[in-house]
Amino acid sequence: MTTSGATNWQEIESQYYMQTVRRVPVTLVRGEGTKVWDDQGREYLDFVGGWATATLGHSHPVLAEAVAEQARTLIQVSNAFFTVPQAELAQLLIDNSCMDRVFFCNSGAEAVEGAIKVARRYGKLHRDGAYEVITALESFHGRTLGTLSATGQPQYQEAFTPLTPGFVHVPFDSIDAIVEATTERTAAVLLEPVQGEGGVNIPSPNYLRQVREWCDANNLLLMFDEVQTGVGRLGTLFGYESFDVEPDVMSLAKGLGGGVPIGAFLVKDRADSLTFGDHGSTYGGNPLACAAGRAVMQTVLAEDIPGKAGRAGERLRGRMQAIADRQDSVHEVRGMGLLDAIEFSNEIAGDILTACLERGILVNRVRPNAIRLMPPLVITDEEIDRGTEILEEAIAAVMQG
Ligand SMILES: *Cc1c(COP(=O)(O)O)cnc(C)c1O
Repeated sequence: MTTSGATNWQEIESQYYMQTVRRVPVTLVRGEGTKVWDDQGREYLDFVGGWATATLGHSHPVLAEAVAEQARTLIQVSNAFFTVPQAELAQLLIDNSCMDRVFFCNSGAEAVEGAIKVARRYGKLHRDGAYEVITALESFHGRTLGTLSATGQPQYQEAFTPLTPGFVHVPFDSIDAIVEATTERTAAVLLEPVQGEGGVNIPSPNYLRQVREWCDANNLLLMFDEVQTGVGRLGTLFGYESFDVEPDVMSLAKGLGGGVPIGAFLVKDRADSLTFGDHGSTYGGNPLACAAGRAVMQTVLAEDIPGKAGRAGERLRGRMQAIADRQDSVHEVRGMGLLDAIEFSNEIAGDILTACLERGILVNRVRPNAIRLMPPLVITDEEIDRGTEILEEAIAAVMQG
């Protein structure tokens, strides 16, 4: 169990933990800003950002203090009672979005589950029992049975059939496909404004507006899964602002707690179809998580974190494009804000990840041929420059074999 006196955590994991995640062989013990450290004391630049959750960076003093203070005050009560952090976070989200009401839960999947329940209830109330939700191929909506069924990636689904009925998958970025898939059974269209887990896929400029118009014309709900794009990631507080298209329902999670687990689904009045008894959660909206979300939202608003993320994203893509111009192995650079990808001509993303790791930078292999970068939104210019320098060294090293 020990190597040079240190505990071999990876060996313990491999013996005791379910083997469902193919892990990167690093045991992280500490983080600060955009940097993290492993149990051997090695420092890494973190371009995975806690899987796009580290809005304010690791161990941000305001967030750390908010969590500590709330832990000393009140962690959890029954949701039969009113609590202050929950009310304040709800107000912050509604006052700063196009939405009218919010419900808090604990994860992205739960937030999307809530949105799906809204769609089904809406169909019963306003669409003569319609229940189908149209979603996109290459989408990702979560790992619960409902959200897995919504997800348009068969490789995640095949082991768990039969899936939850009521989902229709269409190619992303095609309004014609949505028009064709719409029937009297359709209640809603569910889309990520930018597909994250699918490889960072940006729709054409008019797509989401056209979907909005189609939903309006046919009395369907437009639901944006903003679990990854929300809270500044795309350079606007919410992703829908980047496209100037307002959804009727929106899910949030990843960035909302800055790394503390919290999810939310939000509705406009016209979609506000859940009523007493329709939904609930033991931990959803608990004071601890909401205090974290409140601290994140207050800081994001006060320091214009979305604006900073937008400018940082431009710098990052500029640096990556320069790499693409020098390195034949790079096929394409794409992204928006700090949700970015670099696609290679061959399936070398795994090798690139390993070469990056050896050089002290963490990246995500989002496709066999693509690396995703989703660093903390507070990443500095120097960190972007240093990170992309290392990335280019890693690419060159892999190409030299
Ligand atoms: C990550 C993600 C989810 C699932 O969130 P979990 O917190 O892992 O359940 C759902 N939708 C999108 C768009 C995501 O990126």
